[in-house]
Amino acid sequence: MTSRLSVERLRRDGERFMQEISREYYEAHSGLKPSAELQPIYAAHRDILASDALEVAREYFAGSTEGSEEHRSARLLLDWQVESQSSRELAPLDEQEIAWEADAVVTTPDGRRIPFQRVAIEQGNSTDRNERASLEKARAALVQRELAPMRRERFQRERDITESLALASGYNPTWELLSGVSLTALRDECAAFLRDTQAMWDEVLPAALKRVLGIRREEATRADALALFRAREFDQYFPATEMEPAILRQVREMGVDPLANGRILLDTGEREGKRSRAFCAPVRVPDEVYLVLRPHGGQTDWNTFLHELGHALHFAYMRPDLPMEFRWLGDNSVTEGYAMLFDHLMQDAGWLQRYTGLDKQVTPAFLRAAGLEELHFLRRYCAKLIYETELYGGSVSWEALPDLYVQLLSDATGFRYDPADAFVDVDTRYYAARYLRAWQLQAVLTESLVSRYDADWWRNPRAGPWIVQALFGEAQRELAHEQAQRVAGKAMDFAPLIRSIERMLE
Ligand SMILES: [Zn+2]
Repeated sequence: MTSRLSVERLRRDGERFMQEISREYYEAHSGLKPSAELQPIYAAHRDILASDALEVAREYFAGSTEGSEEHRSARLLLDWQVESQSSRELAPLDEQEIAWEADAVVTTPDGRRIPFQRVAIEQGNSTDRNERASLEKARAALVQRELAPMRRERFQRERDITESLALASGYNPTWELLSGVSLTALRDECAAFLRDTQAMWDEVLPAALKRVLGIRREEATRADALALFRAREFDQYFPATEMEPAILRQVREMGVDPLANGRILLDTGEREGKRSRAFCAPVRVPDEVYLVLRPHGGQTDWNTFLHELGHALHFAYMRPDLPMEFRWLGDNSVTEGYAMLFDHLMQDAGWLQRYTGLDKQVTPAFLRAAGLEELHFLRRYCAKLIYETELYGGSVSWEALPDLYVQLLSDATGFRYDPADAFVDVDTRYYAARYLRAWQLQAVLTESLVSRYDADWWRNPRAGPWIVQALFGEAQRELAHEQAQRVAGKAMDFAPLIRSIERMLE
């Protein structure tokens, strides 16, 4: 009885804690505040973040029957508590890192000073390979010297804290227990995907490098990848002023209010200190959801806006009566799957011709470029997941990880990676696995929407209400593969993604 009451308190105070943290991140990452002050929030909520709270969640989990709703809730609450144990201890490091990213400046050999946050944008926009390379050299040196040691310490400590809880025999089995997802199976699928698409990649990459950047495959680095996929040649078809009106119109045509009656707030203007990577901040779910984007220009913005809008719609249309753990926690492959459902509209010829400046003549070339980018992105994420299982797995020493990172990422992508990024280019707590499963879920959902509402489901006024009710409303109660079964009666895998890439590259 006391334990049930305590679970209720975990839910109630936990939601308040999450709202405060989320607001702090929103304000710091959007440039409204110079830095994030996380430690006062952790201090104010120490009761629900201390080891007692972990014990409540652990008992609730141990006492629930596998397969029951209670077990589902308990797994999510325990996962959250385990994450909180490390987040609380790592808060000073996270604060330090956020402050560093906001202040850091890269100085090039010719004396140019570029804010760290803008380097990727500059590299993507630069048409001069030497300029990209010198910027990359300066960036990597700074990262190696200042950011990499902070991040390495962060991962070491996170692994130690998680393993010390002794929920399973190591970091990876603990993650599998708490997520309900098999890393071993996903890793095998990634290795198979890399093998199955190797010949295709070897054929398309060198031609694209030569055509777009005028360079050979042997000399291509990650900075060149940014420029290649920036795909400036299509920018004219994606005017900045048209982006919001066109995309919001499409969501309306689908039968959904794109701003969810004011619950979604768009923060899409240029602001100093704003992160270059767009994000969605659900500050109160479902009532106050921010979509934050720093404009880079061209099709990238359209793609990012669609992605973040998928998240924002998901959060803003969650059923408010669902318990906190289904709205705030759960398998993020689901929310990433909805984000990808929207950003993959940029791979739909009909959608492109209706809402962007692309016409019938240019669309095939655009889709070939999109197919190339999709294949690159998937291969990069497959390699990242394989690398991260080693980083968290513990059988490779910390000293040896940078070489492994360079080898795995460079082999998979065909672009030379820098060892400085081995602890920086890592999604914490296997977020790469969430993305990879989201890709698979997106493919299942798109197929299902096409069969229910036809190829132009995105402008069918019956499709939106179904998406809101059957998908968004359910929040994140289900695991991604459970949802694929419920909605489409299908298992998730990479096969439909390979088929769609082959169609685009034709
Ligand atoms: Zn996302």
